[in-house]
Amino acid sequence: MTLTSPQFKDNARAALADTQLQRALSKGLGFVERRRLAAERLPEFDALRDAARDIKNHTLAHLDLYLEAYEARVTAAGGKLHYAVTAEEARAIVLDICRTAAAKTVTKGKTMIAEEIGLNDFLEENGIQPVETDLGEYLIQIRHEMPSHIIAPAIHLNKDQVEADFRRVHTHLPKDRNLAEPATLLAEARGVLRERFLAADVGIIVTNEGNGDLTQTLPKVHIVLATIEKLVPTLEDASTLLRVLARSATGQDMSVYTTLSTGPRRPGDPDGPSDYHVVILDNGRTSMLGGEFADILRCIRCGACMNYCPVFNAIGGHAYGWVYPGPMGAVLTPALIGVDKGGHLPNASMFCGRCEEVCPVRIPLPRMMRAWREREFERHLSPATVRGGLRLWAFFAKRPALYRLATALASRVLWLFGRSAGRFHRLPFATGWTRHRDFPAPQGATFQAQWRRRRR
Ligand code: SF4
Repeated sequence: MTLTSPQFKDNARAALADTQLQRALSKGLGFVERRRLAAERLPEFDALRDAARDIKNHTLAHLDLYLEAYEARVTAAGGKLHYAVTAEEARAIVLDICRTAAAKTVTKGKTMIAEEIGLNDFLEENGIQPVETDLGEYLIQIRHEMPSHIIAPAIHLNKDQVEADFRRVHTHLPKDRNLAEPATLLAEARGVLRERFLAADVGIIVTNEGNGDLTQTLPKVHIVLATIEKLVPTLEDASTLLRVLARSATGQDMSVYTTLSTGPRRPGDPDGPSDYHVVILDNGRTSMLGGEFADILRCIRCGACMNYCPVFNAIGGHAYGWVYPGPMGAVLTPALIGVDKGGHLPNASMFCGRCEEVCPVRIPLPRMMRAWREREFERHLSPATVRGGLRLWAFFAKRPALYRLATALASRVLWLFGRSAGRFHRLPFATGWTRHRDFPAPQGATFQAQWRRRRR
């Protein structure tokens, strides 16, 4: 997996200039409006969000106990639980299970954890064919791309691109097959994936889709891949999270499919895997527990924060350069890959606060992005110009009288030079702004002067 987070600014510039991507982003999927309606339909939605936050906080505070209890349950059901401290360990465990099963093909439900550990490439390098069963994930798999959204991984593609990809990859396709409509594209994907399900030796899932049932029940070996913070104590707690998850993600009252996975096939069960494995991955999360960034471990990957984020909606998910995009990625990525590599991402925010407003588990995303910015600054990772500018601003901000004088003076000078045109087409020290749009000339008194007058 190529890590392009350090090139975030270049990625963002390229995304803004990509007309096809801009068209796809402007269409969106309507999640914002649907979430709003779903929340309105449920009077206790905010109370449910509080409950979801409390469930996650409680579990994280007692994670050691719940992990032990969970291991005991998996073992009692006839499954095997594997702890993986690092991504390498998780990959090695999955490969070992596949090799023991002499697996050639692995069907795989949508999982961000598999993206985080680069599982597909690793399995392929070791002679095992992974097949994504989620349609969006399948589309990006055949393009060798990463997801651009955590719940709508192929949001950046249009149907012409999908048709071209199917014609390139599905070599059996007759030339005259109609693939111009979404329905015919779907039928083509379903036909191909159904054959793969029947041929699969191992299934891996974490999913809310119907394909999850086939992934779980048809292969003889089943692997659940999850990170430590996904655990919740009871089925009732899980259902509380599902109620806020579906509404926040797609605006549905409940996801269309929810697969409950209880272990290997029991005597009398009509189907199910004979071998059942759960791989629980840490990958740096334990060190976040109890720290400044622990709140992000509550994340249930609904994607609402990115749906509402003006920056994400302008540049899409690929610009973030790693698995997790948008505000949640801007907080989680530096924690997982280091602030030296992911430190640009927390700067991709205007702090409008919409992400925190809509987060179903009330994660204070802007506060944590600010904390990452402070760390970036402390470790001298931000450019000298930014550091110099912030120092200058801090000098004035600490001296309110001087600050007022300087802003009033600057405002007066800008008014003098800009009063005839009413705007500046070019402005030294603000070229990043004026390269793309005009800078309005100040009019009237400064904000602080107006504020003082109103208070009087
Ligand atoms: S941070 Fe909150 S809004 Fe964003 S994906 Fe996670 S749970 Fe959803």
